[in-house]
Amino acid sequence: MNEERYCPICHGKFVEKEGTKSHEMFKKEIVIHNVPYLHCDNCGEEEYLYEHKVNMLIRDTYRSGLSEADYV
Ligand SMILES: [Zn+2]
Repeated sequence: MNEERYCPICHGKFVEKEGTKSHEMFKKEIVIHNVPYLHCDNCGEEEYLYEHKVNMLIRDTYRSGLSEADYV
């Protein structure tokens, strides 16, 4: 994906990164590794590149009774 994305808060340029993100689902912490996301160096705003997929993965991990998963 070469399309450039911009921060909705400050209109700075988003930089593509990959990392570990933790989420809380029904009071349980779910950690997802190697998630691709966009980061704004200007204001620190972050957004997932494929938010729907991340949400599905968090739900599947929670349902499997696990607390962490790798983004594939
Ligand atoms: Zn920004």
